[in-house]
Amino acid sequence: MHQIDKFGSYEVFTITRASRRLIESYSNRTAQWQDKTRCPRCAAAILYLESQPRCSSSGCVYHTAGFPLVNEQPVLIDFESSIFDRPNYRSDNDSVLDRDVDRRSWGSLAHRLAFGKNPVAASNCTRFIKLLKQLSGRPTVLVIGGATIGSGADDLYSDPLLDVVGTDVFSSRNTVIVADAHKLPFEDGSFDGVWIQAVLEHVLEPAMVAAEIHRVLRRSGLVYAETPFMQQVHEKAYDFSRFTQSGHRWLFRHFTEIDAGPVSGPGVALLWSIRYFWRAFGAGDKLSRLLALPFFWLRFLDRFAYGRAATDAASGVFFLGRRAEQQAIDANAMPRYYEDQG
Ligand SMILES: [Zn+2]
Repeated sequence: MHQIDKFGSYEVFTITRASRRLIESYSNRTAQWQDKTRCPRCAAAILYLESQPRCSSSGCVYHTAGFPLVNEQPVLIDFESSIFDRPNYRSDNDSVLDRDVDRRSWGSLAHRLAFGKNPVAASNCTRFIKLLKQLSGRPTVLVIGGATIGSGADDLYSDPLLDVVGTDVFSSRNTVIVADAHKLPFEDGSFDGVWIQAVLEHVLEPAMVAAEIHRVLRRSGLVYAETPFMQQVHEKAYDFSRFTQSGHRWLFRHFTEIDAGPVSGPGVALLWSIRYFWRAFGAGDKLSRLLALPFFWLRFLDRFAYGRAATDAASGVFFLGRRAEQQAIDANAMPRYYEDQG
């Protein structure tokens, strides 16, 4: 568990009264979110979360079958309706794909050199945290797809006043629970904020995930989502959708918009196209990255792109919103929403 490791190593240097309070309060908060877990199938409480997790309802299939534990993390997935099978979670390595959790691999480095860093996430993260602190003195944030810390999301993890509950479809040091976002294993209103970066393209039913985010957020809770628009298929069999800014807005129609816009511009989108152009002719993942590298300068042109036309060609889009109790935008307002972009 990432946060416990962090406090654990802090402890090695010096245990001041303040740091002990921090550790104790973290442990209490951990217990609080654990109390809010529920069966992803029938919504009943979970028993023995840390040893032999199982559903408390005797009529539920997961009462007898239980849920796996991988790397000491409960895997609260309803396997009967998920793309992820129970056998994926039998070993210590539960990812169905090779993942670079630390983003230190050769491929990740080449990717950063060519494509640069996320130009909006860090400042949006600062804003997200500031808004969260207006909701609560000690906000709890659910991170969906948090096995790898998202580009620009580091402040979520370094802020001692935030409690981050990391989830993903596989475990890592940044997660505490393994879950499928179509059926989040948490009670209604459990979180002050939800952070979901580069995940919605990988789910079968994005609208179902957006509804789950709405459900697990408290009233006036905040969501931050980033989703690709002009990007080719990545993560192989687990890639299903893309969103325009308007499509993304409609997906989050039960939220009021605080801000929205492109993530990276047409230069980054063109770099992706160059890479995938060569890949289509047989260059593998590594060679195609190398072949795109000489064109890295295209991304510097993004700062000169502007207005709706730039959003029309964006590499991805973001949405920062607040949970609303009714639909916050009507179908007939969508053409106007597009006209107002940029
Ligand atoms: Zn159940």
